[in-house]
Amino acid sequence: MNLYERVGNIHIHTTYSDGTGTFEEIAQAANEVGLDYLIITDHNVYAGQHAGWYRHTLVLVGEEVHPNNINHYLVINAQDEMAPYAQNAQALINAVRARGGLGFLAHPFEHSGAYAREPEINWLAWDVHGYTGLELWNYMSEFKSYISDPLHALLYALFPKLAIRGPYPETLAKWDELLGQRPTFAIGGTDAHAITYRMGPLKRQVFSYRHLFRTVNTHLLVSEPWNGNFDHDAQLIYEALAKGRAFIGYEALGETRGFSFTAEQGGELYTLGDTFLARGPFTLHVRLPKKGHIRLILNGFCVAEAKSNELYYQAKAPGAYRVEVYRSFAGKLRGWIFANPIFVHTRRRGKGN
Ligand SMILES: [Zn+2]
Ligand SMILES: [Zn+2]
Repeated sequence: MNLYERVGNIHIHTTYSDGTGTFEEIAQAANEVGLDYLIITDHNVYAGQHAGWYRHTLVLVGEEVHPNNINHYLVINAQDEMAPYAQNAQALINAVRARGGLGFLAHPFEHSGAYAREPEINWLAWDVHGYTGLELWNYMSEFKSYISDPLHALLYALFPKLAIRGPYPETLAKWDELLGQRPTFAIGGTDAHAITYRMGPLKRQVFSYRHLFRTVNTHLLVSEPWNGNFDHDAQLIYEALAKGRAFIGYEALGETRGFSFTAEQGGELYTLGDTFLARGPFTLHVRLPKKGHIRLILNGFCVAEAKSNELYYQAKAPGAYRVEVYRSFAGKLRGWIFANPIFVHTRRRGKGN
């Protein structure tokens, strides 16, 4: 199957909730950066009337639904106001599914920076089921966690690349645990608000939408080219998200467009989010647009590594294979690409297994 890469930014707040940009302003920023799509998710308000094409950026409207300070849920394609379900996470997940929508657990683990004085908003309802996946990497949530004092506030506001490292280890570990139970797909978000903070002696907008659109993006592999019809093109985005045909790219360390992760068996190719039955050894192939430190993870364990722009690996074992790529900046390895798994089974499960 031919797949087409679409690069976009997910988890954005507008003036409908606590963001500072209008739909038009935010779309303009996405246009300037060259993003293919945006998914707007205001707090407990669905502004679906603003969805549409804004020049060459497809703007989709979801919602971040939640009670106070726990269990933030990113709702996509429910096409309805979901805030009335905010108090009960499972009821919310069920209501979204009943409307054919998708849902991702937002910033499931947070660390509060002592200086930012904002509450940690964690996902606590881990007994729920039926959600599509989780927001593995939330740029603003991570950024705020490193603001421990006025000096770091100022330093990191001026040089955010010094702060950012990647998804938290506990979020990655939780994802691997969930992958052991069922397919759970990852997306990246920026939690873009473009709010002005006082950072030490400076009053500074942290950060503009334009800045954020060059940080943590979600790259989707859609099954057909776009044709300019809003419903058709939006459906391709939703389909890719539902199937996990996605990887997260932190563009500040180098553009990630062109990354690929595939499995090949007997001439058949599989990619992100796919499941196949192994009839013997198969080959996994990672390709990067630039050199990086590649880690191939199977069921939570690293099974192969390379400092290269490519990695081949002959495999036999079943499980969820996923890829992480790091790059060095200012003396530290930092997260660059996090890709959804390819799932491999070695035999069909019989009834009762
Ligand atoms: Zn949130
Ligand atoms: Zn948010």
